[in-house]
Amino acid sequence: MTLKPAQYLLRIDDLCPTVRAESWAQWQALIADFDLKPILAVVPDNRDPELEVSPPDAAFWERMRALEAAGAEIGLHGYRHLCVSRGRSLIDLHRTSEFAGVPAETQRAWIGEGLGILRGHGLNPKIWVAPRHGFDAETIRALLGEGITLLSDGFTRVPFLRRAMTWIPQQLWAPVEKSSGLWTICVHPNTAGEAEIAALRGFLARHATQFTSVDRVLFDSAPTALTLAERFQAVCALRRRKLSHAVGPIRRLGHLRSSNSP
Ligand SMILES: [Zn+2]
Repeated sequence: MTLKPAQYLLRIDDLCPTVRAESWAQWQALIADFDLKPILAVVPDNRDPELEVSPPDAAFWERMRALEAAGAEIGLHGYRHLCVSRGRSLIDLHRTSEFAGVPAETQRAWIGEGLGILRGHGLNPKIWVAPRHGFDAETIRALLGEGITLLSDGFTRVPFLRRAMTWIPQQLWAPVEKSSGLWTICVHPNTAGEAEIAALRGFLARHATQFTSVDRVLFDSAPTALTLAERFQAVCALRRRKLSHAVGPIRRLGHLRSSNSP
């Protein structure tokens, strides 16, 4: 059933001790000011140089524990965030990713180690957030083998069940007013600047009561398999996204990278 009025989830990606400190501080202020319960997508053992922006924050893991205790959902954001595999993902958005196409045994090892690292820091990761939307059937098997039954991805307007996983859709990279449905807005503190933060702050000023949490979503809805109409809508939304991505780099020529690429 489609939620009315619309509800929103905030998802913050690429979190690791070297996340851009000034920006991350502002996102944390936003979380506190509006009592948000976001999905925090944490890279367990970051080796991606693009995510090494600030000196390592010694208090990073402590901050994560505090945010989780305040209601945030910890997401397993890959393993090392090295997106060099060219396999085809179940969400066919990017050509390369960390997980899609990687042998099953390796994926199992990475997921097991990643979860172990996060749990070793006192966190309780419950939701999979694939770097660059890249994951395949083997990823899902490995996650289920570890007891992870939730993932954040897909272009539907409702959460749904597929391949024994509950999918919480993620379709936006900036706030957009919607009349119904569940919408996850994904942000990247390493690249999102003052304008993006201000835009979300303005949106929150009008729609804070419509922001929800993963727990609340699961409590309020009993996700089922998608209807044909929802599947069709999701395929169209993914195509629109791919098209806008394809023309994006031309429009943004001269910029280092798009704010929503990882
Ligand atoms: Zn990422």
